This record gives sequence, C-alpha cells and structure tokens, in this order.
Amino acid sequence: MRVVVVGGGAAGSLVLLHLARGAVAHRDGRGGPLEPVDVVLLDPGEQVSGAAFSTTDPRHLLNVPASGMSVDAEHRFDFVDWCVTQGLLAEGAAPYWFAPRREWARYLRERLAAALADAGDLVSVRHVRCAATAVDRAGDGVRVTLADGAVVDGDRLVLATGLPSVGEDWAPRDLTGQERYVADPWLPGALAPVVDGGGDVVVVGTGLTMVDVAVSILGSSPERRVVACSRAGRLPQPHAGSYLGEVVPDVTGWGGTLAEVRAAVAEHLDDVVATRGDWRPAVDGIRYRVADLWARLDAADRATFLREVAGTWGVHRHRMPPSTASVVDEAAEEGRLEVRAGGVVGVEPARDGWVVELAGGERVTARWLVNCTGPRSDLRRLGDPVLDSLLGLDGTSALAATDPLGLGLATLDGRVVDATGDLQPVWTLGALRRGELWESTAIPEIRVQAARVAADLLDEAVNAAAPLGRLQHQPG
Ligand SMILES: Cc1cc2nc3c(=O)[nH]c(=O)nc-3n(C[C@H](O)[C@H](O)[C@H](O)COP(=O)(O)OP(=O)(O)OC[C@H]3O[C@@H](n4cnc5c(N)ncnc54)[C@H](O)[C@@H]3O)c2cc1C
Repeated sequence: MRVVVVGGGAAGSLVLLHLARGAVAHRDGRGGPLEPVDVVLLDPGEQVSGAAFSTTDPRHLLNVPASGMSVDAEHRFDFVDWCVTQGLLAEGAAPYWFAPRREWARYLRERLAAALADAGDLVSVRHVRCAATAVDRAGDGVRVTLADGAVVDGDRLVLATGLPSVGEDWAPRDLTGQERYVADPWLPGALAPVVDGGGDVVVVGTGLTMVDVAVSILGSSPERRVVACSRAGRLPQPHAGSYLGEVVPDVTGWGGTLAEVRAAVAEHLDDVVATRGDWRPAVDGIRYRVADLWARLDAADRATFLREVAGTWGVHRHRMPPSTASVVDEAAEEGRLEVRAGGVVGVEPARDGWVVELAGGERVTARWLVNCTGPRSDLRRLGDPVLDSLLGLDGTSALAATDPLGLGLATLDGRVVDATGDLQPVWTLGALRRGELWESTAIPEIRVQAARVAADLLDEAVNAAAPLGRLQHQPG
C-alpha cells in the first residue's frame, strides 16, 4: 500500500513513527498478513522541521513541560528519560522542565529512526524534498502534483502541513520582498540577519513567536532594543515555577452556548483559585474538555469566541517557560523590550530601516521590521495551492470541505469528508483540525491524533492483505 504524507514536520513524523510501531506490534502480535506500507514523504525541508522545531537557537524552549512532550501519550516520561540519557537533565530531577526545542526535534528524529529500523520492510519511507501543489482523486486513491511538475500516486494521503502561511493582514501596505522586513521568522535563516545585523527592531505580534524572536535579538548584544506591538498588547502568561497539577472539570452541566460556557469557566476558575491559590490548574484542566465544549457551540458562538475570547484564552493557555519569562521581565525593566497596545497604521521606509506608526499616533523608528502575527485563520483565504485544490477553490472537484468559519477541514476522527459527507482516502491532523477541536496545534493533542491516523492506515494495510492472506492459509 502506498501512502503519501504531505508535510514532514512534527505531525507527519509522528504519523510515520506510530505507523512503524503499529506495524511491528501487529507483526509481533501475529495479527495476520499486513501489506507493506511504502510511504512517500513530501516536504521541501528536512524531516522534523516546521515552524516550531527547526530553530537551532538553544534559547528557544518548549512551552510545554518535558513530561507532556513524549512521542507517545502512554509513555509519559519517555522524553524526560531521553533527556536524562543525553545529559540534558539530571537523573531524578523534576520532569517539570522546559527543554530547548531543537533537542525535542533530535529526540523525535531518533525515536522515528529506531521505529523505522524495527519495522524493516513493513514500512519504508522515501523523502522527496519538494512541495505538493495539488491533490486530486485517482480511482480509489489520490494523485499529488509536486512543485517541479512531477506526480505521485498513492492509495492513501496524510495531510500534515500545519497552517501553511503567515498572515500579513495587519500591514497597511504591501511589504513583499522589502529589505529589512522579515515576513516569516521561522523560515530557515530568515532571522539571522536581524540577530546579527544590530539596531532596533519593531516586532508586530506579542505572542510566543515574538517572545522567541525578542530573546534571540536581545541576547545578541546589550545594545539591542525591541518594540513589540499588537492590538491588545498582551504578552503570554508565564508557566508557574513548579508543577501545580490540573483540575479537570466535569462539564456535563456546562450548557451549550458561549454565554453558559463562559459563566461555567469563570466559576471553575474561582473554585480552583480558592482551593489551589492559582488559576493555572483550572486552565490546564479545561484543555481536556475543550473539544467537547467547542463541539457544543454553533457557528455564531464560535465566531464570537474568536473575536472576544480566543486572545485571552491563548495567552493563558499557551504560556512562556519561567526562565524565558525572567528574560522578558528583565529586558522590560531595562527598557530594552517595550510592548505597545495598538495596531500598525503606517509603515514607511526610512534611510536605514523603517518608521512604523502605531494607532494612537506614536512613531517608532527601527532598522528591522519582523512579522510575528502567526498564520491567518481562514483556510479558504490562505491561497495555499494544496488546500485550494482539496477544497475545489482552483476549479477542480472538491475532496474536502471546511467548517463554516474556515478554521479547519471537516473530518470523521481525522479522515477527511467532502461536502456531501463522503469519506475520502485522505487523513489530516494538527492545525487543520482546529475547526472541529479548537485546541489542535500542540504535541499533546497531535501525538494522539497521529496514533489514530496510523491505526486507520494499518487497518487499511491489513484489509489490503486479507484476500492474499486467506489464499495463503488455504490447505494445499
Ligand atoms: C514558535 C512556536 C513554538 C511552539 N512550541 C511548541 C511547544 O513547545 N510544544 C508544543 O507542543 N507545540 C509547540 N508549538 C506548536 C507546534 O506548531 C506544533 O507542536 C507542531 O510543530 C505542529 O507540527 P505540524 O507538523 O503540524 O506543523 P509544522 O511544524 O508547521 O510542519 C508542517 C510541515 O509541512 C510542510 N509543508 C507545508 N506545506 C507543504 C506542501 N504543500 N508540500 C509539502 N510540505 C509542506 C512544511 O515544510 C513543514 O515542514 C509551537 C509553535 C510555534 C510556532
């Protein structure tokens, strides 16, 4: 069976890992014949790349404690144990620790290589370093067109592209290709000229990407200064200094409208603060119930959530490691990191950089301008060729549909369905499932989805082998 995986970031790599481990478990459990799975992995970058884990800066830390970052949810301390074997963490040290993200990428690569070696001929992977540009149905399977014009046919497809393009809706003018402007700091090498180049920097966006970018720039010289701005001017909250636990609420009686859910969340927060002295265990507990609560909201409530609540939820749920928060606080006290509330209303090239005008009238002069606003949310507006072809926006027939807000693809537990509800030979995971789950962008969620996608693919491989298996077992 040939499987085409588009995207070799964390999500695509986790699917391969679970596929290989699942195939070995099937063989060792004598689960009957299994058609070998030949994977063609399409990604122009290295394996385990993508926005979060391609950074080489050791100051860029995971924003999830090590105990939440194992490749397999059932072996909670696997990553912690690996860190100990690598000398990154002392034996017996608290697993509530935030490792450099590049180390997690190394861990995933190691675990993946070992799983594929164990699987032998059961699962093979060929990495083609080219982007996919279109996906069409071909018989019972798919045909993927690549950027170089080649085509790859597959029986099944996994779409693991994350959210493929950054948003620049904030920009009052077209900045494409401008000198001293970085549209996407996570593109390989994109930030290096800013870090090495000296001078003040305006960063648009005040979330976790801004924090990483600021940490790299401010660490390059005590002379550097960063001004970060966003409409609300809110920084991510810090993680607590020690593990506080999670209080997972029973949400049965929480109702089905946004107003009801907001009231219940407020009550849960009050209760947890009263009993535990901190809001974090409440927020971390709600994370386990988000998919359930999100499913209860209609499209109008979801749109209101995006407008009114998502920002507040995001800064409390996606937090900075404590050591990063200390760097940020120190830089703010020294006046080297300034955070402004107010959108960008003007951007003018200056002699050696930019003059950026913020709502409220302030004009900031800087040598560099860096976009850290993250991806746009509506898949239908990204202009991504693969999504456009899947959604039929390029005039071809649609294999997929989105939720009404365009946040993600419609699926049945990760298997893509078209607008009529027909199952397609396509699976997806991660950010492309936000429309159904809302919280679907971090490893604790993605690793579970990856295991599920791999299990479905293995079922298909077992079914594909079944007629042959019966023949082989017929008495001669
Ligand atoms: C700055 C930052 C820090 C983060 N830190 C954490 C953290 O500490 N812990 C955590 O759990 N999560 C973290 N996240 C969330 C993180 O995005 C996910 O955990 C994870 O990286 C998502 O993996 P992914 O494979 O879905 O997407 P990505 O990592 O974005 O990978 C997608 C891959 O698809 C490829 N691709 C895209 N389009 C195509 C195409 N058309 N053809 C071929 N290939 C294509 C890309 O080249 C890329 O390699 C962070 C995110 C960011 C931005």
